[in-house]
Amino acid sequence: MTDYYAVLEVPRDADEAAIKRAYRKLAMLYHPDRNNGDKEAEARFKEITEAYEVLRDPQKRGIYDRYGEAGLRGRAGQAQGFHAFDLSEALNIFMRDFGGFSGFEELFGGGRRSGPSERRGNDLRAGVSLTLDDVARGTKKTLRYKVLVPCETCGGSGAKPGTRPTTCGTCGGAGQVRRAQRSVFGQFVTVGPCPTCAGEGRIVAETCHICRGDGRTRVDRTVNVDVPPGVSSENYITLRGQGHAGPRGGPAGDLIVMLEVEEDPRFQRHGDDLVYDLPLSFSQSALGAEVVIPTPYGDEKVKVSSGTQAGTILRLKGRGLPHLGSASKGDLHVRVGIWTPERLTPETERIFRDLARHEGEPPASRDGRSFWDRMKEALGA
Ligand SMILES: [Zn+2]
Ligand SMILES: [Zn+2]
Repeated sequence: MTDYYAVLEVPRDADEAAIKRAYRKLAMLYHPDRNNGDKEAEARFKEITEAYEVLRDPQKRGIYDRYGEAGLRGRAGQAQGFHAFDLSEALNIFMRDFGGFSGFEELFGGGRRSGPSERRGNDLRAGVSLTLDDVARGTKKTLRYKVLVPCETCGGSGAKPGTRPTTCGTCGGAGQVRRAQRSVFGQFVTVGPCPTCAGEGRIVAETCHICRGDGRTRVDRTVNVDVPPGVSSENYITLRGQGHAGPRGGPAGDLIVMLEVEEDPRFQRHGDDLVYDLPLSFSQSALGAEVVIPTPYGDEKVKVSSGTQAGTILRLKGRGLPHLGSASKGDLHVRVGIWTPERLTPETERIFRDLARHEGEPPASRDGRSFWDRMKEALGA
């Protein structure tokens, strides 16, 4: 069963004013006029109105609190005033308590269109694949896609060339019609989209033979996308107005470019920081060496001092990735590992046997922790 309190997001002891406020707040979000006929919003609008209509009435609320929804539904014939609403009833209830049409416009901060509705075109999504080097430097990508644009033949009107769309006779071009309706709550005036012109205010009598009255045709489009440095796969870029045009002159939607940063086999990424695993040979770690470290900005020579232990981390400051939207950069952490030859030649075996006779004991504990504890810590294990 529906929990009306949960639907309106109010506590069970909410007073009438709080219920009214909560309903008004939600109605602003889900009112069909604000949601372009979205079915989910419509269902939600009906649901909150149903909850409101019960909870704002002390008698109905009392029955609901004691017997639940079934209490209101039951005892048919006794006017309990409960049933699932259809949309026009829900709209009527909203208008009864929150004013007529002009009040409604005020309520929505004047943001609502008063004239005929132009339908906005749909957004488009496109994916762009980026390497870590692209992320480091920023890049430009070219996208090609198919998109609906205003039909050239009819100029986007949808009307046959030489003809013009005519003003809708039903609504006189307003796109909306008022209807007086009777319901269990009395007589109300509803304002809804005009059924003849679907709210557009105009009628295309003879349609354009190219777009068949839609006012749009499909074309290939190429756009350049500037990808700033420092992005990740969580980022996306919105190109306003690069989506589909709306039908019959409606404004265009957006193109949403989803970014996908490919894995880079050289590095692990942690935000702006990078980690690179450097394999040193036993002799390089013992003697010290000059090694080449890859960075997103090119290779760099780095000196490793003699006696470098496995697990040592060398920090190359500012060789990580740029921070999105700022000039600062992360660091590149070089994690030293030591590799051991898997197969020995007679020559290397002789050298290692010779070495074994000269090796000392493993390093002694300095701070109460064993050599291995410190190793594990350094390796982040
Ligand atoms: Zn056309
Ligand atoms: Zn109309």
